[in-house]
Amino acid sequence: MNERQTKLVNNADRHRQLVFDAERWLWRHPQTGYTEWEAHDYLLERFRALGYEPVLAGKIPGFGDIPGFYADVCTGKEGPVLAVFGELDALDIANHPESVNGMTHCCGHHAQAAALLGIAAALKEPDALDGLCGTIRLIAVPAEEMIQLGFREELRRKGIIKYFGGKTEFMRRGILDDADLALMVHGTAAGDGEPFDFSCGYGSNGCMAKNIRFKGRSAHAGGSPHLGINAQYAAMLGLQAVNDLRETFPDQDTIRFHPIMMGVTSAVNIIPDEMKIESYVRGKTLEAIRRENTKVNRAMAGAALALGAGVELTDRPGYAPEHHDPQFMKLVESCCVDLAGEDRVRFDYGHWGTGSSDFGDVTCVMPGVQFNAAGASGTFHGIDFDPADPERLCMNSIKAQLFVIDALLSDGGSAAKQIISAYRPEYPSIEAYLDAIDQLILDKDAVTYDKDGNPSIDFQNITE
Ligand SMILES: [Zn+2]
Ligand SMILES: [Zn+2]
Repeated sequence: MNERQTKLVNNADRHRQLVFDAERWLWRHPQTGYTEWEAHDYLLERFRALGYEPVLAGKIPGFGDIPGFYADVCTGKEGPVLAVFGELDALDIANHPESVNGMTHCCGHHAQAAALLGIAAALKEPDALDGLCGTIRLIAVPAEEMIQLGFREELRRKGIIKYFGGKTEFMRRGILDDADLALMVHGTAAGDGEPFDFSCGYGSNGCMAKNIRFKGRSAHAGGSPHLGINAQYAAMLGLQAVNDLRETFPDQDTIRFHPIMMGVTSAVNIIPDEMKIESYVRGKTLEAIRRENTKVNRAMAGAALALGAGVELTDRPGYAPEHHDPQFMKLVESCCVDLAGEDRVRFDYGHWGTGSSDFGDVTCVMPGVQFNAAGASGTFHGIDFDPADPERLCMNSIKAQLFVIDALLSDGGSAAKQIISAYRPEYPSIEAYLDAIDQLILDKDAVTYDKDGNPSIDFQNITE
């Protein structure tokens, strides 16, 4: 650690109590995507107390009201714009012992939000921006977890959002229009005997979001089942068909299909006339996701036909595959090593994860790195998840991000400029990216019958 970095560490440590209080408060107030108003209000109040004037994502003219905001830290000198994210959303997981209204932060996003506040506070210290150029955009962003797909589709139909992912929606709202680079830290659990504080892989799967609705006919389940069409059986058959297709998914595409049935809407003595399924199709490329998704839709149509049922298919853009810029990764890695030492940092430039994040969407249009800070224990998205060590989960995250901000934007922003000029975006602009994912949208009543019972099948997404 050099003298400057020691100062940055001290700047962060001065706000330890603010960060730890926020971590505890946010942990106790979990809300799921696009409903995180409590976290929004809590953070907004504290950002304002620090002297920031945040721009509210929900108050941008022409767009619906959603939680989340951003605040710019201007160095007063021309230079790159660095977007730094903290996520707000929790998950439905009623069996977690600390769940509140059936939700917890079992992905640790509350720690990210607390860290974002800590960064905001540290950047207000008198010497914080010494020698820096450009702008640091601190972004409190909703809805990273791609869940409650029915609810998000409802928001979409009401015109409140267009995209299910918060970062994608923020891109649509112009919040990243002038951003040049993107940075994020997600919590992680170092496994037994693994001493690392920081880790990072090269990238991770993208995904498509699916609502599937099987339509049958209700009837008395005991007295006259022959008058009914069992939508639950049709759904089960559809899922079985996809399970039988799994061996046709090429290994290198790292496809994941993990449906959940959303439950019946009638009683045990009624043949269920409706069964909704939510799922993703994840994969390494959008092309692979698209290809294998067509098979999934065909399986659903085939299952509906077998039972004489119908099925509505609703496909929505999920997230793009996430690719970390290797040169940017190198810079982040050296910052982490400066802070924690080489033996506590594990960057793997070949590692591919099979989860997905809307940070992937951001990396399609600008160089970005999402790395991990250890400090959680238990299972992510599991009932034993515990943000056990906020010192590592939050304070380490803040310090490492301050180091990265400093490394990118000092010296006239030369490191940032080098990364930006070497970066080849997958899409030439945010607009081009959003146009491309709009092609994934599909709304089909996939199986219909004429008066003689002859079916018409239509499940393909054919775009010119
Ligand atoms: Zn998660
Ligand atoms: Zn997460």
